[in-house]
Amino acid sequence: MDRKKLKLLLPATMARAGWEVATTRADIEAIPFDVGIPTSALHALLADVHGVALGLTPFAEAEVRAAPNLRAVARIGVGYDTVDVAVLTRNNIPLMVTGTANSPSVAEQALFFMLALAKRGGAMHAMVRDGQWANRFTELPVDLFGKTVLVIGFGRIGTRISRASLALGMTVLVYDPYVAAEAVRAAQCDPVTELDAALGQADFVTIHCPKSSETIGMFDAARLARMKTSAYLVNTARGGIVDEAALHAALTQGTIAGAGLDVFDQEPPLRDNPLPALPNVITAPHIAGVTVEAFDRMAVATVQNLLDVLDGKPNMDHVVNKKAFKTR
Ligand code: NAD
Repeated sequence: MDRKKLKLLLPATMARAGWEVATTRADIEAIPFDVGIPTSALHALLADVHGVALGLTPFAEAEVRAAPNLRAVARIGVGYDTVDVAVLTRNNIPLMVTGTANSPSVAEQALFFMLALAKRGGAMHAMVRDGQWANRFTELPVDLFGKTVLVIGFGRIGTRISRASLALGMTVLVYDPYVAAEAVRAAQCDPVTELDAALGQADFVTIHCPKSSETIGMFDAARLARMKTSAYLVNTARGGIVDEAALHAALTQGTIAGAGLDVFDQEPPLRDNPLPALPNVITAPHIAGVTVEAFDRMAVATVQNLLDVLDGKPNMDHVVNKKAFKTR
């Protein structure tokens, strides 16, 4: 084995397209690891690697200590609540994310949830399948046209769902304390500074902010109570931003009309999680960002991110902790 090769540790499940980026380089050795291997086995593999790619495998102090040669960590995705960014920064290790590789896919999933809820997709299909045609006027679907959507987080995904919503004739309110009101207005949307006040105006609320100490529990019982009883909540961001017990109560008591959920507090959700069984809920198994196309795009971007750091030319748009470079 060539001792000079730089080693990348990559999840075995990562798309082939990403592996191919690594194997085109003679100076790189790509090593697979099975997602879900015991922590001790992961630490053993980390011992002499220079870059690691992560699905949702947690990565913190112990992992950094196990990897003395580590120079780059790349998430196959954009959320990084499973990674201890402060520890990486302290150790001058950049954390890379995949930019817009999955943003259109997540925005489409959010739009799909909004449409499925509005058009009562599951119930209408069941009516035809079960010979209940005569009941079709009992609970009519609703339009998105003319309705108001409140978008929480106006980043790569939030801006895309906003554009799609505008195209359908919706009014788009945006809550993002970190984006200038001018930028929101320039996108033909209406900025809101008071989340609590805006909730009462929305027919749909769709969440696209990161999971952070600021956003955990953001949608608790009090917030849900501020929504219209006819409103739908869509979460394709992260479990934990919505309080699941409070959401269940709101959905069963008619405080809100329904919810679309791609993400859960605990994944996979516990078998007795009551949310997926509710008739006014539609769920997906944290798949919004993992379409056929995004699976490939993310793998390619992830491996390219690792190579770019090792080559000394990181894509700064993909760096989460820019300070990791400043202190090098
Ligand atoms: P992004 O960083 O481009 O945008 C996030 C936006 O949220 C930013 O504009 C930021 O200012 C805003 N924000 C931060 N704190 C906020 C707060 N307290 N209230 C309102 N807005 C706040 O990220 P993105 O690529 O748009 O992704 C958003 C999130 O979606 C990710 O953090 C990730 O957790 C989630 N995600 C989920 C999937 C999936 O498969 N379900 C896939 C990709 C991303």
